[in-house]
Amino acid sequence: MKVYCPYCKKEVLYKIEKRNLKEFKGVEINTYESVAICSKCQNDLYVNSLEKENNERIYQAYRDKTNIIKPEDILKLREKYDISQRELTSILEFGKMTINRYEKGGLPTKSQSDYLKLLIENDHEFIKKVEEAYAKNNISQKTYDKIMSRNLNNGVNKENIQTMYRIYINSSLNKTPNIYNGYKSFDLELVENIISYIASKVKNLTITSMNKYLWFIDSLSFNQRGVAITGLTYQKQQYGPTIIDQKYKEISLLDEKYSRKDYEDESGTKTYITSNKNFDLSKLSVKEKEIIDKIISLLKNKKVTEISDMSHQERGWKKTENYDNISFEHAMDLNIIK
Ligand SMILES: [Zn+2]
Repeated sequence: MKVYCPYCKKEVLYKIEKRNLKEFKGVEINTYESVAICSKCQNDLYVNSLEKENNERIYQAYRDKTNIIKPEDILKLREKYDISQRELTSILEFGKMTINRYEKGGLPTKSQSDYLKLLIENDHEFIKKVEEAYAKNNISQKTYDKIMSRNLNNGVNKENIQTMYRIYINSSLNKTPNIYNGYKSFDLELVENIISYIASKVKNLTITSMNKYLWFIDSLSFNQRGVAITGLTYQKQQYGPTIIDQKYKEISLLDEKYSRKDYEDESGTKTYITSNKNFDLSKLSVKEKEIIDKIISLLKNKKVTEISDMSHQERGWKKTENYDNISFEHAMDLNIIK
């Protein structure tokens, strides 16, 4: 093997000498480096492949001594949440190429390494960072949703999963009062109790129907009192009004007040909600309870398709574009009570 020697000014043969390396960045590492030596003039030569091997060996020894994070630790974090280097960089607010460099074997500073380690070892710390990045608009809705749903699936115990559902639901719905939540701030606990109550009164309550029951309840409440009950926001979807961002999925997975069961039949999978019969309606006024009972009595003997059809007769449904939020101003004119 020959390499160019800048001293001899020509291609020369070289030999390799191993030299002990006791210290790197002030840390005792006790390894060695391989150095190429010109066989003619005996000067040290630069050989790219040797440098690479040296760096790998030295960095490895340094990492072993200092506990600095490894490239595969970062890669595993990205795989866990299915995120790109760019997405991770935005979440961490690191320099543009930093993550790329670390994954290629570059050495992080001790403080950046410690910080990454904290996020890798503690899901909630990472999720906190993600929430922050989302609030600052550093990551897209799509990235945020992806990480959150991954996080639900990664959850190790039931309690964690249930807590994450709640955080995820509240991230979409915990808004200040406006015309789309019927001037009522969203109250998840109240929603759980109301669903449990409805399910105790209605046989075979499907998730599709649950969306309509809640929408009719809030609409009737707005119609009669100018304010909704649950604070949920609804969207126009193909089959009728549904809780925004499909958050009814996570809501249906909460298990304190009701249970969710899937059944197969000829038309596909149907999901039913059954009450755990431990609902607490003490937060509701007499008038609010009357409104809920009224809607239950109007819908309880109707089939899912009939309930859907009824929702399609309402102005809120007709006057709203697909996938837009449904304004409660339309509830001033309500077909269901005519
Ligand atoms: Zn030479």
